[in-house]
Amino acid sequence: MRLGIGRHDLLKISAIFPRTRFFWLILMHLFYIDESGTPETSGNSKQFVLAAIGLPIDFWREADQALQRIKFRYGIKEEDEVHVAWMCRTYHEQTCIENFEKLSAEERRLAVKAERAKFINTRKKEAKAEKDETKKRKILKTISDAKKLFNKTEAYTHLTETERRQFVRDLAEIVGRWKDVRIFAEIIDKSNYTPPAHSLTPTTQAFEQVVLRIEKFLEKKSSWRHNTRGILIYDNNPSVASQLTLNMKNYFKKGTFLSSVKHLVEVPLFIDSSFSGMVQIADLCAYALRRYVEFNEKELVDLISPRFDKKPRTHHILGVRHYTSNTECQCIFPHKHPRKEIST
Ligand SMILES: [Zn+2]
Repeated sequence: MRLGIGRHDLLKISAIFPRTRFFWLILMHLFYIDESGTPETSGNSKQFVLAAIGLPIDFWREADQALQRIKFRYGIKEEDEVHVAWMCRTYHEQTCIENFEKLSAEERRLAVKAERAKFINTRKKEAKAEKDETKKRKILKTISDAKKLFNKTEAYTHLTETERRQFVRDLAEIVGRWKDVRIFAEIIDKSNYTPPAHSLTPTTQAFEQVVLRIEKFLEKKSSWRHNTRGILIYDNNPSVASQLTLNMKNYFKKGTFLSSVKHLVEVPLFIDSSFSGMVQIADLCAYALRRYVEFNEKELVDLISPRFDKKPRTHHILGVRHYTSNTECQCIFPHKHPRKEIST
């Protein structure tokens, strides 16, 4: 006995009622977006990366729990944010503590705290004694930078640099195994940035490209059985939030440079990365891509590479693009060279 309605039944009904649309279900995807490197052409980084990690809404809980489990294994609290660039730094104070590796987690935390307090107090005394205003300002800047570093890394001071890097590798390995997850990104080489339109900044160009690739992905995922929709969740960045919101509204009305936008809904939701584990995963992806293209560090990219959106048979990478004037670049991603752009 046949149960339910088959494809041919739906086609017959569609022929009788042509305006009726039949979908079994709507598949919702969440796309978490974060940046790595500075978008300003004058910034410290040579490359700017905007990365998105997309997952079916039903997979969210499993992915979030996997992140929490690994944090628990390394003694990182659930409420503490994973910020890969800060985790992978060398903490000078740890190297000053004798037999740091042999201490317990709590002893390590206390020892680093004491070492950091000593550093700040010493610099403060130096600043107070300094008569030269230029030198004094330099010391005060050192104090301000150190306080920022200490604040951003407080959650990981109980881990050695080796353990922190292993944590990042373990996380990347897990992401690489998430079969229904896809990674999208635009990598922009800022050294000779000449956008196709003058109004495009590295951030707005990267955003448009990522939106375009996500839209294509969602279009491919839709079928006669189901329709697919996606929503963007962006690491909160007040300096670009209003611009990207405006751009998204324009994409809904007029489409992007190359395509209309029909499968994404709503403007991007900007949330604080400390509240969202998946934004932290997007941070990991963006960091891995930038370190690969800028410093040829392959380890993390190799681990997450199974998740790049690719053509099914050829495995040609569709989801990630490198925009660079360097025609000799040997990275694995498809390239777009500025001179070949069509001006709009
Ligand atoms: Zn490249």
